[in-house]
Amino acid sequence: MPIRLWLFSVLLAILWACAIAPAQSTPGQLPSTAMPTITGVPAGAQASPNFNADAATEAYLALIPADAKARSDAYFEGGYWLILWEFVVLAVAMLLLLNLGWSAAMRNLAERITRFKPLQTLIYLWEFTVAATVLTFPLTVYEDYFREHQYGLATQTFGPWMGDQLKGLLISMVLGGILGVALFGVVRRLQRSWWLWGAGVSIVFVVLVVLISPVYLVPIFNKVTRLDDPKVTQPVLRLARANGIPARDVFEIDASRQTTRMSANVSGFGSTMRITMNDNLLRRGSPEEIQAVMGHEMGHYVLHHVYNGTFFFSVVIVILFAFLRWGIDASLKRWGEKWKIHGIGDPAVTPLAALLLAIFIFVMTPVLNSYTRTQEHEADMYGLNASRQPDGMAQAAIHLGEYRKMSPGTIEEWVFFDHPSGRHRIHDAMVWKAENLNVAQPQSPGTP
Ligand SMILES: [Zn+2]
Repeated sequence: MPIRLWLFSVLLAILWACAIAPAQSTPGQLPSTAMPTITGVPAGAQASPNFNADAATEAYLALIPADAKARSDAYFEGGYWLILWEFVVLAVAMLLLLNLGWSAAMRNLAERITRFKPLQTLIYLWEFTVAATVLTFPLTVYEDYFREHQYGLATQTFGPWMGDQLKGLLISMVLGGILGVALFGVVRRLQRSWWLWGAGVSIVFVVLVVLISPVYLVPIFNKVTRLDDPKVTQPVLRLARANGIPARDVFEIDASRQTTRMSANVSGFGSTMRITMNDNLLRRGSPEEIQAVMGHEMGHYVLHHVYNGTFFFSVVIVILFAFLRWGIDASLKRWGEKWKIHGIGDPAVTPLAALLLAIFIFVMTPVLNSYTRTQEHEADMYGLNASRQPDGMAQAAIHLGEYRKMSPGTIEEWVFFDHPSGRHRIHDAMVWKAENLNVAQPQSPGTP
């Protein structure tokens, strides 16, 4: 069977790459990054009586060398195609599982192993997760490994990268198993209203995962430590206290283990909520840049973005389940017999559900991106007001331009950007600076 042969060769290729890749690369040597590290304020963005926000924005953008801009544009625009390819590859994989009868065969195997329904579901889901991971692996390894190296964004050799992939697979088997067994339990008991209760179960599940993530999931891949450098923590904690945030610690994550990207985030829920900076930001960001980024993260916290986001995504999940109910019913009527699926409570329906989920996410991409981008813009404005570091924000925007196109078109930004573009962020910062010239850049003594 050609498909089996193909699978076999993919597995062989993985083993081969595992064996030789670590020997080829030079560990410890970080790839050069494309964007310049900007420490000073360019002449066109210096505070002066004739300061102009538009001109200042252009002055910052002019600091980016042409080859760095070309590389950033190519990387980010390639991502647009990857959205399409991810969708196509997943759709083809799911249609193969259904049409070749593999999904039904995996269900039969699970039924032979045990007569206990929830355990049958769990075994099926594990088979499915492994099959889906293997079928989509060629794209994963290109997108996550080779392409990231090609653009100098990755720091891992193949062995450790593969190790992270395996950890991810195990986590999705555990978490996906729990969610899947619960969902099929709901579907079998409530044949009519399962989609509403299923949405409820999924929402509770997502909240629990967000809650445990900083404490139990993140440390599986990275080391998170309390930051212990008063030079960095004192201004950040001062900023936190001034904004009514009861933070006693700032956390650091060793993201450089996987990537050269700079970032920071707010994660967790309630008592596990925390602000974390990654070590790339700490290593490469200037003090004013770090404060600008931390002001942004505090904006997420103070503006309750985690809770607003939970509400928004809960609504999205309910719409998704209504779509699943309609899509599964219609498809099973037409092809259920051919796929040997015994009904909606049969776990062999999973590839169909995954296919419908992929269609939903693909179509919703602009909506989901626009929601996130709006929150990010709010956090930017909060961060500017809190940190009063417009030039630090501009520096950060340029650093982040290593993996995000700086100057997209309007529709392009609306569809593809989950954060405002670098140009937008610098412009926001320069408008803020124009309105706060006395605060942004203290004049030398003697000037009024
Ligand atoms: Zn943010």
